[in-house]
Amino acid sequence: MNKIINYLDPMVHLGEKKYSILFPFLINFFVCILSEAYAYSIAHNPMAVGAYSIFINVALIIYFAFREGIRGGFTSTFFSIAYYFYIIFTRHYTGSLLTSGIGTIIVLAFLYSFLGFTIGWLKQQIDTLIEIQADERKRLETIIQQLPIGAIITDDAGRITNINKQVATILGFTIPIGFTLGKNMIENVRINGKRLLPNRALSFNVLSTGKAIINREQIYEHTNKGKVYLRIDSSPILNSKKKIIAAATTISDITRQKKLEQQKDDFIAMASHELKTPITSIKVFTQVLGKHFKDKKDSESQRILQKMDKNLDKLDELVRLLLDVSRIEQGKLQTKPEKFFVRELVEDIIEDIQPITRHKLILDWRTTLYVYADKERIRQVLVNLITNAIKYSPHADKIIMRSKKNRNFVEISVEDFGIGISKKEQNKIFGRFYQADSNNTYPGLGLGLYISQQIIKLNGGKMWVKSEEGKGSTFYFRLPIHKEK
Ligand code: ADP
Repeated sequence: MNKIINYLDPMVHLGEKKYSILFPFLINFFVCILSEAYAYSIAHNPMAVGAYSIFINVALIIYFAFREGIRGGFTSTFFSIAYYFYIIFTRHYTGSLLTSGIGTIIVLAFLYSFLGFTIGWLKQQIDTLIEIQADERKRLETIIQQLPIGAIITDDAGRITNINKQVATILGFTIPIGFTLGKNMIENVRINGKRLLPNRALSFNVLSTGKAIINREQIYEHTNKGKVYLRIDSSPILNSKKKIIAAATTISDITRQKKLEQQKDDFIAMASHELKTPITSIKVFTQVLGKHFKDKKDSESQRILQKMDKNLDKLDELVRLLLDVSRIEQGKLQTKPEKFFVRELVEDIIEDIQPITRHKLILDWRTTLYVYADKERIRQVLVNLITNAIKYSPHADKIIMRSKKNRNFVEISVEDFGIGISKKEQNKIFGRFYQADSNNTYPGLGLGLYISQQIIKLNGGKMWVKSEEGKGSTFYFRLPIHKEK
């Protein structure tokens, strides 16, 4: 019975794009025979097939046009009109009755054709739209399944509409389509006894705020693999009216990458630590040797030794940088804050650097404030910014250092007129080992800015850059003003 209802229900056939002539042909034929049987055998009046048959024919045209498209509409129209002619001739219409009958049939033929065509055409348009939508869905589904990372698409209520098999591989269990990643971020929500991704509220946040979440790292306890590191990204999907209609979330397993990073950090920590002691001893020996050569008045050896000492200083500086990086990574970089006058510190640094550079170091100082921070670390930051400014402005001749008060902070800047940094690179230069210049025109490790930014953060401040390629850069940082207690 259900099968018959399904077969007859035109809504079930929406989107099928199969238009049969046979079915409407048979039904229309059958209805005509029924009409004739009614007129002759039940009503015993050949003229009894009047208004009701028009009603039935219109209903059939609408039904078949909506079920079988234009073909269905026209087949029913054809049958209805043919039947009307059949009635006129079998009931022997004559004279004015015949002419008005034929006139009515012609008018009805036009009306029926119009009805059948319009509804049939609309039905076919709907089918095409449904087909396009289904194709799009299939395309999206295939793309999602092909992705090498886990992908989840939710509707605007956080209900999963698409999810690929990689999610199950990464998490160790399957989340069914239709599951709602709702707002109640509860750690112990389980599916088949397995704890769900801890950050199930993530896509919900995206849906409610409309803001993408990028590169969220999360530790996850996998049933078989144990602790795994996940990277999660989620962004809203907006329709043409900028309304949030869905959210797309990707999950990737970055455990391998994290382990490699950890190995690299461990190596840096160990190497820099191990290198520190021999460098210090060599430094002591060079001093002893220096004294020895001086006593012997051996100026050639003294000159070579001085060169050696200079290179040793460079090596020492490198090791210091590496040590700082590993301290930062391990959260062991310590600060010893004190009250000091920044202007004095900057003047002191200028005194050291000015003799060895042709750039004019200009001070444009607008504050007479004390800050509360680790003076030696801030010296390290300032030296790094000034030496960078010199290094990356080979054709300029000045560097300007400024300061101004900004609420509870002293804002300090170092401006150069050198090569500048592109917008794209500006976000990256504070990263570890990052060098904007990939050709290695300028020597360096790409650690100075990373360490400087971390030092400023540790001292309660913030560091940023404004720059235009080819025109120069200004590095800013701010430190809290010292408050007298
Ligand atoms: P390093 O100078 O050792 O390469 P940093 O961490 O100090 O490392 O700087 C990172 C990168 O930022 C540099 O490689 C350079 O490309 C860019 N950079 C830093 N300071 C400037 C500047 N004043 N002008 C232009 N580029 C700069």
